[in-house]
Amino acid sequence: MFKHSGVRFKSFLHYLHFRFKRKGDYWRTLLEQISYENMPLEELRRIQFEKTKRLLIHAYENVPFYRKKFDAAGFNPYKFKSMKQYSSVPVTTKEELRNAGHEQTKAKGIPADRFVSDKTAGSTGKPLFFFKDSAFEVSEACALLREHLRAGVSIGDPCVILRGNPPKGLKQGLFHSTYFYSTKKFEEEKLLDFLSFLKQKRIQIIDGFPSFLAAVAKKMREKGVKLKTKAILAGGEMLFPEQRKLIQEAFSSEVFDRYGAAEGMGIAMECNLHNGLHYDPTRFVVEVLDEKSHETLVDKEGVVCLTNLENYAMPFIRYLMNDRAVLHSGRCSCGLEFPLMSSVKGRVLDALWTRSGKLLDFNMLDPYEHYDMLDGFQMVLRKDGTIEARIVPLGNPEQVKRAVEKELREYLDSSIKLLVKAVDSIPPDRTGKRPCVVVER
Ligand SMILES: [Zn+2]
Repeated sequence: MFKHSGVRFKSFLHYLHFRFKRKGDYWRTLLEQISYENMPLEELRRIQFEKTKRLLIHAYENVPFYRKKFDAAGFNPYKFKSMKQYSSVPVTTKEELRNAGHEQTKAKGIPADRFVSDKTAGSTGKPLFFFKDSAFEVSEACALLREHLRAGVSIGDPCVILRGNPPKGLKQGLFHSTYFYSTKKFEEEKLLDFLSFLKQKRIQIIDGFPSFLAAVAKKMREKGVKLKTKAILAGGEMLFPEQRKLIQEAFSSEVFDRYGAAEGMGIAMECNLHNGLHYDPTRFVVEVLDEKSHETLVDKEGVVCLTNLENYAMPFIRYLMNDRAVLHSGRCSCGLEFPLMSSVKGRVLDALWTRSGKLLDFNMLDPYEHYDMLDGFQMVLRKDGTIEARIVPLGNPEQVKRAVEKELREYLDSSIKLLVKAVDSIPPDRTGKRPCVVVER
C-alpha cells in the first residue's frame, strides 16, 4: 500500500499528533490519499468524475456566481455524464471572481466555522481574497505530508519550511518535527546560522523556493560547504535546470519539483524518476487550455485551468491560473498512475545576493499584507541596485507611501536604496501580465 510513499511509521506519537491536534480526520484523509497512489488510472478517473459531478451540482445549487454562469452557458450539471463533457463547463477568471464579490461566490448552507479566509499572493496581478473549506485544509495538510513521503522521508523526520513570514503563533510541540525558518533579512552571517540550524536539528527535508535555495547553494559552493539531507522540495516558482544542479550538489540530495497554488496546495509533484510532475486527479482537475480559444490541449503548452474538487466553501471551477504548462498523454514508468504535467512557467521570481552580501528574496515580500491600502503593487530592481516600489494607493497617498516604506524597510537592509513611488496604475508588460517583481537586465 505504501509502495510510492515509502512510509515507515516511526512513531505512534505521530499518529496521535495527526489524529488529535486539530479538528478533522487527518489520519483517515492521509491514508485515503496514499491509497490513491496505488490505484489504476481508470479507477482514479472514476473518482474524479464523481467528485466533479458532486462539486458542479453543489456550485449550481449554492453559489449564485456559478448558477448564473452555468445558466448563461446552457450547462446543466444534472446532465453531466462524463469528463468528456467537461469542456462545456464555462471557464472562470480571477477577475470575474474578484468582481463578483463574496456575496456571489461564497457557498450558502455551509456552517460559518468551515470558512477559512485566504488570499492569492503570487507573482502577478492583484490578489484574490477567498475562502477555503476547513475540510480542504485538512486535505491540503495531508497532501503536503504525502509529498514529503513521496520524496522518501519518514513521518517524524525533521523538516524545515523556509518562508519570508513564517506563520505567527506556531509552537513547535514536543513531537512536532516541522520547523519554520525565516528568510527575512538573509545575510551572509545568517547563512552560517542557517547551516548550523540544519545540522543541529538534523533536518532531512528542506522545503523552499528554488530561487532562494539556489542562492544559498551558490554561496555554499563558493565557501566550499556541503551538507547531506534526504530531499529538497522546491516549489512556488519555476525550477530551472541550473538551479536544480546547484541545489542538488550543495545538499547532496535529490530535488523534487512540484506545483501548487494558494487556490490549491499540493497539486502536482515529481516522482523519483523526474519524468514530469504527477498531478492528483482525485483532488483536482488540471487542464491546459489554449489562451485564446480555451480549447483543451494535450502535449502542447497552454495556460493551466484548475478545478479544486474539495473546496466547497468557495469553489474554483475551471479557473484559469497565471501559469503555463504542458499536460502529457504519456505515462511514467514509476507505477504511479497520476497523470503527468510539466514546464510550469510563469512563476519566475528572483533571489539574488546584493553587493553588500545581503540576500534579496522577493518571495518574502507580501505587499498585500495591507490590502485595504493598495490597489496595485510592483517592485522593480533597477540596474543600479535601487529598488523601486510602485504602488497604486487607496486613500491618502502620502500615508500609504509611508506605511509601505516602513513595511519594506523591515525586509531590506538600510544599505539598499529604496524608492516608493505612487502611480495611477501598473501597466501590463508585453505579455499582458503585471508581474509583482521586475528585474531590469
Ligand atoms: Zn513517475
